[in-house]
Amino acid sequence: MAYRALKGTKDVLPGEAHLWHHLEDTMRAVTARYGFREIRTPVIEQTELFLRGVGDTTDIVQKEMYTFLDKGGRSITLKPEGTGGAVRAFTEHALFNEPLPIKMYYLYCPVFRYERPQAGRLREHHQFGVEIFGSPSAYTDAEAISLALTVLREVGIDDLSVNINSIGCEKCRPAYNQTLKDYFAPHLQEMCALCRDRYERNPLRLLDCKEERCHAIAKDAPRMIDHLCPECSEHFSALQESLAALNIPYAIDSGIVRGLDYYTKTVFEIISNRIGAQGTVCGGGRYDRLVETVGGPSMPGIGFGMGMERLMILLESYGKLPQETGRCDAFCIAMGDGKESLQLADDLRRAGIRADFDPLVRSMKAQMRYAEKLGARLVVIQGDEERQKGVVIVRNMSTREQTEVGRAGLVDRVLEMLKGGETNG
Ligand code: ATP
Ligand code: MG
Repeated sequence: MAYRALKGTKDVLPGEAHLWHHLEDTMRAVTARYGFREIRTPVIEQTELFLRGVGDTTDIVQKEMYTFLDKGGRSITLKPEGTGGAVRAFTEHALFNEPLPIKMYYLYCPVFRYERPQAGRLREHHQFGVEIFGSPSAYTDAEAISLALTVLREVGIDDLSVNINSIGCEKCRPAYNQTLKDYFAPHLQEMCALCRDRYERNPLRLLDCKEERCHAIAKDAPRMIDHLCPECSEHFSALQESLAALNIPYAIDSGIVRGLDYYTKTVFEIISNRIGAQGTVCGGGRYDRLVETVGGPSMPGIGFGMGMERLMILLESYGKLPQETGRCDAFCIAMGDGKESLQLADDLRRAGIRADFDPLVRSMKAQMRYAEKLGARLVVIQGDEERQKGVVIVRNMSTREQTEVGRAGLVDRVLEMLKGGETNG
């Protein structure tokens, strides 16, 4: 029986891990600069959290969640997005008592959605994301967008489009929903079954149907941004002014409504035109009522999620995937029974040097080949003769020069050679 990874899931193999580290290191560095700290929440939550939070009229809740009963008969769901868990933790641990705003990020957060797998669309994918609690200011929206762009720029991509929209609040949206229904009513018969259902349950979602015939009708629909209440309208202007102040080019796309019900006011997407239909790398928005919805105090929030796998595909299309660097600085050739090389490598490792040896004690030629494969900069050799003299030979793999070093001084000498740039690294 040969097992395969489940459809829509992916392994990260050792030869690919450096690519993920490149993204993660950049994300940690940038978020630190913006004053964010990390949050990690469980992969499983009570299903109810997502029904209430994400919203039970969304595609995610209706079609995509991995939900099951555990042995105690409780309904459990694998995270279908990152915000729910963060908001639950924020509320449960009363983090709102800390100085506001509170800024947190999550990295390599597994997200599960039962989707039709294709390039850039997995059933388990991973998100980097941030959540900011306690600031209603549009400066915060701009800060989040700026952070996302900085991450993308620093991993190597700087020609993405930022699309923004406002979907209003509980004050202005009900009237707009009615305006939308009035607009769509005469067209309903031409629209897909899903849209006819959305018409009753969540008319805003009529705007982002992917079906061509629905899209054609939706594109001339009245825009939320023309029906915002004064507060939302002012907020949307302030966002645009803030983005302009940060020299961030953006476009207004009144079709962005996002797949989660919890958004209010600002919604945004960062997209690439290079990777086709799955071009959205980052999506986010403001959720001023969400904390309250899951049982916390009234507390504004905003966040985004960035798909790590999509980002990887994008980097590849730009030819910006970093090369794997050598993973060994000093390789200790095993001679005789090989125990000496085990000890040599151990001494070097304790001194902080990336050292390795051959536990299989293969032929000298095979070991040299292996050392080269590992990218070893130095090779340490101690044959019988050297052992008797109390020395070891250190060979520089790029210059092929060999030096004899006293066994006791080996660690210091290797450190010196690695630091002194005597080897190419
Ligand atoms: P889409 O419209 O492409 O389905 P979405 O609106 O469902 O995206 P979000 O819920 O905003 O996506 O998730 C944030 C990001 O996570 C997306 O911008 C995307 O980069 C990534 N993402 C979402 N779903 C998947 C998936 N099934 N496979 C891989 N990445 C995904
Ligand atoms: Mg989706």
